[in-house]
Amino acid sequence: ESYLTRLKLTEPHLKSFLHVSEHVLKQAESLDHRIDRNENIGLLAGVLVGVKDNICTMDMPSTAGSRVLENYRPPFDATAVKRFKELGGIVVGKTNMDEFGMGSTTEASAFQVTANPWDLSRVPGGSSGGSAAAVSARQCVVSLGSDTGGSVRQPASFCGVVGLKPTYGRVSRYGLMAYASSLDVIGCFGSSVADAGILLSAISGHDRLDATSSKREVPDFTSQFISTELLGSKPLKGLRVGLIRETLDNGVDNGIKSAVLGAVSHLEELGCTLSEVSLPSFPLGLPAYYILASSESSSNLSRYDGVRYGNQATADELNALYGDSRAKGFGPEVKMRILMGTYGLSAGYYDAYYKRAQQVRTLIQKNFKTALDENDILISPAAPSAAYKIGEKKNDPLAMYAGDIMTVNVNLAGLPALVLPCGFVEGGAAGLPVGLQMIGAAFDEEKLLKVGHIFE
Ligand code: GLN
Repeated sequence: ESYLTRLKLTEPHLKSFLHVSEHVLKQAESLDHRIDRNENIGLLAGVLVGVKDNICTMDMPSTAGSRVLENYRPPFDATAVKRFKELGGIVVGKTNMDEFGMGSTTEASAFQVTANPWDLSRVPGGSSGGSAAAVSARQCVVSLGSDTGGSVRQPASFCGVVGLKPTYGRVSRYGLMAYASSLDVIGCFGSSVADAGILLSAISGHDRLDATSSKREVPDFTSQFISTELLGSKPLKGLRVGLIRETLDNGVDNGIKSAVLGAVSHLEELGCTLSEVSLPSFPLGLPAYYILASSESSSNLSRYDGVRYGNQATADELNALYGDSRAKGFGPEVKMRILMGTYGLSAGYYDAYYKRAQQVRTLIQKNFKTALDENDILISPAAPSAAYKIGEKKNDPLAMYAGDIMTVNVNLAGLPALVLPCGFVEGGAAGLPVGLQMIGAAFDEEKLLKVGHIFE
């Protein structure tokens, strides 16, 4: 009840949700009855979870922020949703997002723009801006987002919450509406590392409905969250931390640099040994990501033809029906991505764009492998700036894309990364949060969660 009251009060200012469930209290009551009957209730019993609107929820709208899916109600739950529900988690509602995950601010949502709880005139980041704002404003306890190129980590940074992008394949993508299938992962938001880690525990593991989900055993992520008082004065002694040189180059705000360097000295105080590492291919990540993500999306989004799902235009003839449904259903950013992707994949340009971007991707993977052989974790800012004003970059897509420089490389390499608050810069009434990104080796979420928990 207290969460719902808070949600009602704050939602008119924030607009984090596209849909709020009417069944929350009824579901909570039925858990109470189970407690009364001494039945086992799960790890997440009664925990309110916000779910990004591109993650399918049974009998609840799931639009991916697009008119093309307005009124679509999936007849099934995404595996991640099914899993947290089995442990007693309750879907509080569906959170706002940039259409199909394409954007960094939520301004590309077809329905509404979400505000940043730290300063209502600023963006919450994106594309999972609704999920980040909802946790930041305590409208729910934890939330799910999706991260194709930073969509969990950048909004976590802008909203001052913890964002966790798991290794590609750790969490099933079944029921996650595809943007770029080789990059997409479902990730977790929480107001602490422990909260995000507990949610990850609930949703991880192999799923026969997603052939790319990993069969690796899932460690008990929750076992790390012991009292930090028990750990002594240098709890991270011997941990090798590599600061990525290319991420502190020009183009990063000074306030962000000093917050990150402050975090680095804190890690040293905790016993870490620090070195600077170079990932020479790092700056190539941005163009490679935008070519690959657009190419994959141009193929994935062909399923929205007005026949199989969602909104259908009225037309006398089949091709006009496809064309009109897509013309009316997709917003401008999505259309631009489809055009860019189709161009990059077309016969005359494939070698110059798509193939080249794939080669860069291999190079980036190799660079990370070398750096992570020599270091336990790598460190960078989560974004080159703090949250900016609504409208500031709306008409300058290249400036907006450039803001993804810190995060896209991690998706290209499929690695896990944790973003957590590490300070403030000036702005708003109380300052604006800055996020620190920790990148780990594939399937080593456990180490990230341990370091993150001790750090915070
Ligand atoms: N901002 C990036 C894009 O628009 C990343 C989005 C995401 O991770 N879904 O593609």
